[in-house]
Amino acid sequence: MATMMKGPALKKMAPWVLLLMVIGFGLQRQKTPQPEVHSVTHLAMGTLFTVSVWGVPESAADAAVAQAFARIRDIESWASRQIKSSLVYKINHAPPSEFFHVPEELALIVETALKVKTLSHGAFDPGLAYLLDLWGFGHGAPDVGKVPDKKDIQAWLEARHRKSGDGIHLDRPKNGAPTIRLDDPAFALDLGAIAKGYALDQAMEALERTGIHNALIIGGGDMIIAGSKGGKPWRIGIQHPRDHDKVMAAAEVVGHMAMATSGDYERFFMADGERQHHIFDSRTGTPSRSGLISVSVQMDKLMMADALSTAIFVLGMEKGQEFVKHLKGVEVLMVTEKGERWKSPGFQGQWLEGPQ
Ligand code: ADP
Ligand code: MG
Repeated sequence: MATMMKGPALKKMAPWVLLLMVIGFGLQRQKTPQPEVHSVTHLAMGTLFTVSVWGVPESAADAAVAQAFARIRDIESWASRQIKSSLVYKINHAPPSEFFHVPEELALIVETALKVKTLSHGAFDPGLAYLLDLWGFGHGAPDVGKVPDKKDIQAWLEARHRKSGDGIHLDRPKNGAPTIRLDDPAFALDLGAIAKGYALDQAMEALERTGIHNALIIGGGDMIIAGSKGGKPWRIGIQHPRDHDKVMAAAEVVGHMAMATSGDYERFFMADGERQHHIFDSRTGTPSRSGLISVSVQMDKLMMADALSTAIFVLGMEKGQEFVKHLKGVEVLMVTEKGERWKSPGFQGQWLEGPQ
């Protein structure tokens, strides 16, 4: 998240969002002359967000959607590591060990991230900013990427090994604001795998505060759903990881549900004969080669689903299945590069297309 998306990345994203909009609203439009679904799309956090609300007069819908977007932009303004005025940027660029008072919201995101890091034995790692920059993933995917020098990756791994623990210290004093400090720039924060989920949760809460309880919000492939379209389900899809024009799995959903998807197909470049994508394995300092190419997680809240989809992507099919066995209220769909696919029994959705 929070990367300024370049032209090609934007082009890559557009069919996916378009497809969801077609699935979500195309049929609706054919049947009812007055559009009851009101949708607004804006670029935020380096990706496209679409907020759709059902059954609300246009002016009220516009006002509510504006509040949802204001919430997303607010979160981006302090959680982005690219925006120079953001708190995360300041934490990342301060001398090592300087601590910062942070608002409760940022503390909550970092706390959740560190919890998922522990749970996943480091597969999820919110401290990869330095590594991502080394690979050229500072602002989306590089147009022409290059695998960094092995020496530089090794130096990053060693800088991390010199410190014990997380390298990211969140303290919650009894009196006063929480604080965050980093041991070393090798632990600089990148909240790209979790803050978008939090922003979407908050956008939905903003809609609910205005009395809207039937809505679908999509942001870069992650989504949160509430209610229905006058009793009719919201129709959602998961993009085929190797064919942008195809939907791999689809579901009809009524009620509250959040779904996050992590894939190797949205931000990547080809180099050394391999797909160098944006989900990293902090043990090797390289893009994750777990065999998985797409992971979707369904839960009640998107922040946790977002983090878990990234964690499972790095863990792989087998360890990922073992990992989710111990978690409550988490449903998963996974696809490997060899075409193996698996979904947990409670996952809402049916396969439409094979992954190859
Ligand atoms: P997307 O951003 O496409 O929705 P994810 O939710 O999986 O996909 O997040 C990937 C982003 O998270 C990367 O662009 C990077 O900013 C960050 N990231 C990469 N690898 C990891 C990791 N192992 N743990 C946590 N965050 C990661
Ligand atoms: Mg994620």
